[in-house]
Amino acid sequence: MTASERGAIQFGDTQIAYAVVRSWRRKKTIQITIDREHGVLVASPLRTSAKIIADVVRARANWIMRTSQAAASSPERQQLVSGESLPYLGHRGPLAVVATNVVGATVRFTNSTFEVAVQQSLEGENRRAAIAKALERWYRKRAEECLEERVSYWSLRMALKPTRVLIRGQKRRWGSCSLDGTLRFNWRLVQLTLSLIDYVVVHELAHLRVPNHSPLFWESVAGTLTDFKLRRKQLKQDGATVGI
Ligand SMILES: [Zn+2]
Repeated sequence: MTASERGAIQFGDTQIAYAVVRSWRRKKTIQITIDREHGVLVASPLRTSAKIIADVVRARANWIMRTSQAAASSPERQQLVSGESLPYLGHRGPLAVVATNVVGATVRFTNSTFEVAVQQSLEGENRRAAIAKALERWYRKRAEECLEERVSYWSLRMALKPTRVLIRGQKRRWGSCSLDGTLRFNWRLVQLTLSLIDYVVVHELAHLRVPNHSPLFWESVAGTLTDFKLRRKQLKQDGATVGI
């Protein structure tokens, strides 16, 4: 991507600088995207004037500020190379990547080490993507086993039974409970410590009894986990640090 054209607008005390990428394929609309690496990018049709682009950026300044703050505080994207580490059940295990003749990538977890074999011919972003995909597959499998076990453990104690348990990849939710009694859990949960996994499990099970977050609901959670407030706070902190 090349963006030689730059602009900036003043928004309160803040200057929002942006790069403009023009394309003949873009007929009318102007699109703004934000990421950690490139900052604010404006995709625009070939002939849109700099003033119109600045106006569009100004109109979306609030959203740009909010989104760039969120991007800056999200965990650093890992390269997925040897020497880095990955979370599992609240601990971090070293990552060791070797290039072999496998297709794509495979993960083995031994002695708390993530051993990843990756296809020799893959390079750069393709290599990272193959490793990320294999790791997600591995985490999802662990999440299935772990959550099935924890749900049946807490179901017994709370005398509540979900109709089914599914593993999902929602970006911003740890779990959910739908009206038909289905519990959904985020696979990233297994990156956290067991006491936080249990909090999410108890929370979602309690929704089978009380579907909202009323005092009655929290009473039900507290009846099972007396220290739920601590765990909830911890989940907010630790939850922000996981992900691949
Ligand atoms: Zn809830």
